[in-house]
Amino acid sequence: MNEHDSERISGILESSGLKRTEQVTDADVIVLNTCCIRENADNKFYGHLGNLKQLKEKNPELKILVGGCLAQKDQELIRDRAKHVDVVFGTHNLNRVADLLNLSRSEGPIVEIVNQEDVGGEVSFDSAFPVRRELQHAAWMTIQSGCDNSCAFCIVPQVRGAEISRPFGDLVEEAKRVISEGVIEITLLGQNVNSYGRDLTTQLRSSVPDLKDSYLAGEHWAQDVKRRPRTLFPDLLREIGSIDGVQRIRFTSPHPKDLRREVIEAMATTDAVCEHLHFPLQSGSDRILAAMHRGYNRAKYLERLNEARQLIPDLAVTTDIIVGFPGETEEDFEETLSLAAEAEFDGAYTFIFSPRPGTEAADMVDSFCDPEIVTQRYERLRAVILRSGLRKHESRIGKREEVIVEGPSKKDSNVTTGRTRQNKLVHFISPKKLPIGSVAIVEIASASPHYLNGNFDEVITMPARKTRIPVVAV
Ligand code: SF4
Repeated sequence: MNEHDSERISGILESSGLKRTEQVTDADVIVLNTCCIRENADNKFYGHLGNLKQLKEKNPELKILVGGCLAQKDQELIRDRAKHVDVVFGTHNLNRVADLLNLSRSEGPIVEIVNQEDVGGEVSFDSAFPVRRELQHAAWMTIQSGCDNSCAFCIVPQVRGAEISRPFGDLVEEAKRVISEGVIEITLLGQNVNSYGRDLTTQLRSSVPDLKDSYLAGEHWAQDVKRRPRTLFPDLLREIGSIDGVQRIRFTSPHPKDLRREVIEAMATTDAVCEHLHFPLQSGSDRILAAMHRGYNRAKYLERLNEARQLIPDLAVTTDIIVGFPGETEEDFEETLSLAAEAEFDGAYTFIFSPRPGTEAADMVDSFCDPEIVTQRYERLRAVILRSGLRKHESRIGKREEVIVEGPSKKDSNVTTGRTRQNKLVHFISPKKLPIGSVAIVEIASASPHYLNGNFDEVITMPARKTRIPVVAV
């Protein structure tokens, strides 16, 4: 979500006449788009900000802007700690970044944080704002903002607000537009994508049927005489999957409690939807899952995972797991280990619990786990995940995989990297330089827990070259 917000900030600033520079020391304007999901990100940000002070001293004309989740959370505190910051803006008004920059030139430092109620959730969705895509063949699309859940460890509902779904028709129009510009891969973004549309259909249920309903909730729902409140995510997958030219659809993240059969069926029957499910577990212990308020237990999680694997052949599954949630005992942790072993994940983002001020878990100080024990548990879990990741990857050796090229490898520019439909990173040598966005067939030759190595076979398609000139809506 933050990376996509950064693309939008870049797009808006470039449309207002700024140009990107590769060196921070050459910049007249620096924007830090922040994350506050863990303490580490928080600390790193203040470290970066400290380093920028010297640049500002050398060049007083330099403008430093801070946006994103941490800005939404800390507000004036950022200026209190770093007087060299010119603009602080939040998650609900990033569309104002160019205006705020200009205002700061005439009026001095500005802190502008707005709440979700003030903008009705609409401004931050506005697809008329330009985006500078990092990969021309791949687009992110935000389908909802905020979250209505209350996981005890999570600060997202505080900084992103309540769940608001973007109109169905708006998403379909944007998908058509980006595909016409040469995009072949779309990633749908939301805090809980599989509850997308429930708010829209709940509001529409009690209103008189109207022509606008199909724009807000899609044709399928609008023509259903029952007008039952429900998630529209399966409809959205099918609708976007039916647009000519889309090759891959991804989404993140689906909450396990809301992954219903209809979503799995839509994934299974829509060719463009990739065979990859990021399915955040957080813990394998029922006791800890209840304390986290996750809304499922280990049996339910495994049941839905197995259902997805049965209906979607060759499905890759990744997850998120927190180690050391307050009160986690050795028995709880072993439940997590056993579930991770049983689930055979392709990969996992594993985290040590990080108390975020303002969350319920941050107040459970008396139950915080011993950091030394937590570090040991973290390593034990990592070993299980690496083992299953390697096994999964080794099982792909000899397969011919469809890879979309993402460019040269960061470590060796002679090596090309790309991603498979299962979202696996593949390194290979191609006989000639393949442009980013090319689709190639690569035969997998060897595997490691985090990536695959392959031998180039053939190019299927080259990227469509379409130039988009960003225009600011007036
Ligand atoms: S579902 Fe839970 S973890 Fe995910 S954003 Fe919402 S509150 Fe946070």
